[in-house]
Amino acid sequence: MELGDKTELSSLSFEELQAFVKDIGEGAFRAKQLSEWIKKGAEISEMTNLSKALRDKLEQKAYVNGVHIREVLTSKLDGTEKYLYELVDGNLIEGVRMRYHYGDTLCVSTQVGCRMGCMFCASTLDGCVRNLSAGEILGQVLAVNRRIREIAPDEKGIHNIVMMGSGEPLDNYAEAIKFLRLVNAPEGLNISLRNISLSTCGLVDRMYRLADEGLPVTLSVSLHAPNDEIRRKLMPAANAYSIDDILKACRYYIEKTGRRVIFEYALTDGINCSERDADELSTRLRGMQCHVNVIPLNEVKERSLKGPTPEQVERFIARLEQRHISVTRRREMGDDIQGACGQLRRSRM
Ligand code: SAH
Repeated sequence: MELGDKTELSSLSFEELQAFVKDIGEGAFRAKQLSEWIKKGAEISEMTNLSKALRDKLEQKAYVNGVHIREVLTSKLDGTEKYLYELVDGNLIEGVRMRYHYGDTLCVSTQVGCRMGCMFCASTLDGCVRNLSAGEILGQVLAVNRRIREIAPDEKGIHNIVMMGSGEPLDNYAEAIKFLRLVNAPEGLNISLRNISLSTCGLVDRMYRLADEGLPVTLSVSLHAPNDEIRRKLMPAANAYSIDDILKACRYYIEKTGRRVIFEYALTDGINCSERDADELSTRLRGMQCHVNVIPLNEVKERSLKGPTPEQVERFIARLEQRHISVTRRREMGDDIQGACGQLRRSRM
């Protein structure tokens, strides 16, 4: 049997796991035993409370996690870790663990590559190879938790998740939603939805759908521009959806979930970082329950776009603050380890 024909246990909800166990002729209590191992990211061979015969049977039909850490780069500046993961079909994806005083945050990928075509992003340079399954998105968390247990058994493991790695989560909608349910499940990692952010380039119809799912994650929207004309220079998705429509969908999201929306804004020299741009942005966001995350553009060598000077960043932020917009400068973490989306994978492909 090919690996691809086997059941990926990390993708199964508890109910699906119960059905799987029944299918292979085992008692219902096995589902509970298996789920305990799955959330630890254990291999079948490590499931010591199962008989050898049962482990052999499982090996024939299933594998736990199709995501394996192949390389780790550790920042000397702040302990940020960058991972290169290998999937069962040999594809590579990447992720980042950031360490904060309240716990670790893992940035997860949702697709191999991306088809959104944003001008500043390295993940999209070769398009989208394929969607990740819900189990492969979860598998990144399982693999990193396993690593943490091995190197630092006293640490708690991943506490927050940001869906900001490669890929557009709302372009892989069903698996992204299933991942949220899996990672939040009481039999699973039981991570609160409040500790999870989903970042989108603004696929408006899917934003409405997400608002109606009853999954109150933090919605981050990659805005990057104060008006459609500038946004279209940076993001092809801006040709399909206007900022007005995006903001309308955000208001709906806020109303449905009670959560504020985060706007990501990457400052790009000569494109979107003048004080006029800041003024226009604050006018559009006025009165909205939101927060702006300003990021100096992380330069990608295949693209000609340039980052701002520190003065430009300061001025842009000060201008938004003057106009009472809640704003922070996103800390640049792991600057010494190819922190920008997609750069590590490309260098190893
Ligand atoms: N597709 C989703 C999530 C992946 S990108 C989205 O568009 O939001 C995660 C975030 O990183 C987005 O805000 C994206 O715009 C930003 N990003 C990508 N490349 C970047 C770069 N070179 N510098 C700064 N931010 C970048």
